[in-house]
Amino acid sequence: MRIRGTRVCAGMGLAKVLVVESPFEVNLEERETLPAGERREKLSFHLALLEAEMTALSAQLFEKGGHDESEMLMMHLAMLQDDDFKESVCSFIEEGYSLAASIMRGAKEMGQLLIDSGDAYMAERAGDAEDIAFRLICHVKGAAFPSLACLAEPVIIAADDIGASLLMGADYEQIRGIVLSRGSKTAHISILAASLEIPMLINCGDLSVLYDQVRGNPDDCMFLNAVDGWASFRIPEEEREEAAKIKAAYEAEQAAREKYKAVEARTKDGRRIYVNGNIVETQAIDNILKYGGDGVGLFRTEFMFMNKKNLPSEDEQYAAYYTAAKKLNGRPLVIRTMDIGADKPVEALHLEPEENPFLGYRAIRICLGNQALFKTQLRAILRASVFGNVRILVPMISSMHELDQTIAALESAKADLDHEGIGYDKKIPLGIMIEIPSTAILADDFIKKADFFSIGSNDLTQYTLAVDRMNEKVQYLYNSLDPAVLRLIGNAINAAARAGKHCSLCGEMAAEAGSLPALIGMGLVSISVNPASILPLKRLIESLDYGELRKQYGEATLPIPASQTLPAGRG
Ligand code: PEP
Ligand code: MG
Repeated sequence: MRIRGTRVCAGMGLAKVLVVESPFEVNLEERETLPAGERREKLSFHLALLEAEMTALSAQLFEKGGHDESEMLMMHLAMLQDDDFKESVCSFIEEGYSLAASIMRGAKEMGQLLIDSGDAYMAERAGDAEDIAFRLICHVKGAAFPSLACLAEPVIIAADDIGASLLMGADYEQIRGIVLSRGSKTAHISILAASLEIPMLINCGDLSVLYDQVRGNPDDCMFLNAVDGWASFRIPEEEREEAAKIKAAYEAEQAAREKYKAVEARTKDGRRIYVNGNIVETQAIDNILKYGGDGVGLFRTEFMFMNKKNLPSEDEQYAAYYTAAKKLNGRPLVIRTMDIGADKPVEALHLEPEENPFLGYRAIRICLGNQALFKTQLRAILRASVFGNVRILVPMISSMHELDQTIAALESAKADLDHEGIGYDKKIPLGIMIEIPSTAILADDFIKKADFFSIGSNDLTQYTLAVDRMNEKVQYLYNSLDPAVLRLIGNAINAAARAGKHCSLCGEMAAEAGSLPALIGMGLVSISVNPASILPLKRLIESLDYGELRKQYGEATLPIPASQTLPAGRG
């Protein structure tokens, strides 16, 4: 049988299937005669046991380098420690429900609140609440929580849906793939699988026929093609050969990419192209280094502010920037100040809803309107700058006045640190995103004051063509290769080149095989992409001839900076 699904993480696997099912259903109507007081005591007892177990598991994960997984586990645990959750469970107990039913009812109630928040990310956490509640119920019932910790052989996991906590502490090496009948790309289980590079498909539909077939034929293998979005079980002879060929070709392609880990990206005719990685948290730097990336070209720091009750303190932010700078060991680290607003809401700021959020109060506009918030971040970045090659990048600059105000805010943060005797890189470069047409048009003026440019082609396309980048209905109009967008990109590249300053591009088009040749022909020497694209792009770059592309796309031969080394920034 063949199933189809949505790809969460590309890759292929060929292995036996392990169907993961809940050991029991929680009956939400179950009642219990045990006095409520005793059930409450039992709840506290099992909560304490689970806390101890999960804290130990989290520490183990942290030691093994799974910092994100460890933090995620603690986030799940925090849901159970929430006073509102405990109160709601107790009120169900008072109503006479059994302890197990009360816990699941409490988790569902919490989940509903998250769904009602109207925030897609928070809504995904509803599943996490039930996942962790189920773990607690297993404790209460003395049942074993399904575990993937000891797997005797490689397996592909098939399930209706699984919680992230099941994968944490699993024997990752033996997991060759995951297929889920439900799921979502932004659920923690998906984020985790992608970061562990486990091939995964979601939304595969009803898998009960597959489960029956697996029970009847436990030794048969599944071929999972999570590159093209399908999986086959009990493959007919003729398809088996085809599957083996596809897998072999894919593996050969993967192996061919391996050599690019150790080489710098150069075109056929020797032009050096710097391939950096985009990150939202510091652990992804490990992958950038693994793939031989040149540095971090875009640290989207706003993710540190999202989905939190409180804003991160200066020290918390400093810890992240310090970790990133240390990991990169002298390679460039471009930290973008918070690009908050529109599709990246920050609840802790309690901002008013707006009619046109993409054109509204967001990013640098919020920072300049809330100097204390901005200064906290600038101080944290400055303090970390002594530990590496740190650069500051500012999003959404649309007017010269904003750049002047940004420079003033940075100077003020520096003066405070000077006053306090705290060290920082006195020549830290300050760059701006070129993502608004007004700034791209006046690039020659902006580059006089900015130390470098980073072209945000995602927003530049949206704002130039008046096409909402999030709206499926108008996606057919969203084209980063539109001549108008290319003209603005060329304007920025040329302006930076004329000034002898650095220009990179960090939007999605940098990772597209159809766009990169044009960008390189236009003179771009530096890109920043998601870490998984680094190797394929190095390979692509090697096949390109800069001389030829220059003839095709370059308007004039301009002096292009020969390296990623920046001229001295502002002192
Ligand atoms: C961009 O707009 O191209 C960009 C890189 O920033 P973001 O996608 O975070 O808006
Ligand atoms: Mg942007």
